[in-house]
Amino acid sequence: MKYLIILSVPSLVLFNFAMAQHPGLGNPIVHKISEDVYAVTNLDHSFKYGWTNAGIIFTENSVIFIDCGMTEASAEFLWEPARKNLQGNEKIYLILTHEHCDHIFGMNVFKKKGATVIAHELMIEFLKEWSDKYKSTMIKKLKWSQQKGDKIFGEVKLSLPDRVISQDTVLTINGETISLLSTPGHSKTQLTVYEPKTKTLFASDVIYQGGNPNTSFGGTQEWKAWIRALQRLKSMEIEIICPGHGNLCGKDEIYRNIGYLQGFIKGFQSRGEYK
Ligand SMILES: [Zn+2]
Repeated sequence: MKYLIILSVPSLVLFNFAMAQHPGLGNPIVHKISEDVYAVTNLDHSFKYGWTNAGIIFTENSVIFIDCGMTEASAEFLWEPARKNLQGNEKIYLILTHEHCDHIFGMNVFKKKGATVIAHELMIEFLKEWSDKYKSTMIKKLKWSQQKGDKIFGEVKLSLPDRVISQDTVLTINGETISLLSTPGHSKTQLTVYEPKTKTLFASDVIYQGGNPNTSFGGTQEWKAWIRALQRLKSMEIEIICPGHGNLCGKDEIYRNIGYLQGFIKGFQSRGEYK
């Protein structure tokens, strides 16, 4: 496998894998934040929101994936750095940050490898209703043929999480702690993941780097909750943010996303609209 090492970004080494292009892969970049913490950006996204991102954290006897891409090809790509580092007896975890297809469609790739899936408890209700029809609904929305959908998304088999949380939770895995924060707004099930050793926040869709947050899944109450979640993140010690979409960034994007949402609510209310 060929890869390109770019040294121009301070404190990060980027591996841009020139993999044989799969239609559902995108153009992924693996960012090595530390020996044990990786962010992956530029995974395939079939809608207009650009790429999808994910994360990987290694502990002594485990590997924790944060989201699994919109396609099974993306999930297989995420597995690749793990495969190289694992002995074979490690525990595998997959944290799903929320229920949207661009973060969960690859999940069966990890289930087949024995992953314990962790998500917000409200995901159960959603998956019970949607697991059998989510892929076909997306194929229809994208106006694709079934064949194209199968080729890009892969099989897509969605299953219920093995472990659910309903509030902030500290996971202790092999003595390492990772915080799962309940940060609703974009979605009711929205989680963010904080890795304290590198002070990395895997923010998922609480933060859209460089673009407008996608507000289409809620109304004024949810957008206000979203701002509260961002204000909370603002007070944390964070050095690197891996957003749900866009490039790795710093805390300035928290301020920009808050500003956007505040302006969005103001504009919405000044037009006398209510949602
Ligand atoms: Zn997303």
